[in-house]
Amino acid sequence: MTPISIEAVQARAEADARTFGYHLVPDPDLLQGFLEGLKANEDRYGYPSCPCRLASGKLEIDRDIICPCDYRDPDVAQFGACYCRLYVNKEVYEKKVELPTVPERRPMEKQSRTFMAATAAQAPAATPTEKAAPPSGIEPKLWYCSQCGYVVFREDAPYVCPICKAKREMFKEIKTRIDFIG
Ligand code: SF4
Repeated sequence: MTPISIEAVQARAEADARTFGYHLVPDPDLLQGFLEGLKANEDRYGYPSCPCRLASGKLEIDRDIICPCDYRDPDVAQFGACYCRLYVNKEVYEKKVELPTVPERRPMEKQSRTFMAATAAQAPAATPTEKAAPPSGIEPKLWYCSQCGYVVFREDAPYVCPICKAKREMFKEIKTRIDFIG
């Protein structure tokens, strides 16, 4: 599959923003981070899953978090921005109000399903006689933002922290294994 260009990702997002009367986040560094995240996910999975969320790599599970996700419109209506804050309303774009913090609207059961599918894809060989499979991808890890404490379980640290806007370099890996999903 031919990798998609950043320019194509940006043109698509801009066209979509125009269609719905939104804007893309005015901060150029943030914008670049989101576009790179979308490109990386599209190159990896074949579809542009949300750059701020764990994806399973299975279309039927990730369908609701393909950008623009199912949650964008209610989030922009309620908070002025989507969860990542790639799409913002006019007031945010014109910096009349601060870039908001947007809580996760995706239902927990969907997050759980994604998590299970993502980790199952990394499971070791089924029988004890089978040699453990060599890594077919990158194992999901637990990351935290050293600036605001946001925690996320995914293959790589997010390009941009969805809470405080810190860049990827501010994310540190948590080495202790934690059972997720109560
Ligand atoms: S939260 Fe924003 S960037 Fe993420 S998928 Fe939804 S619309 Fe796209």
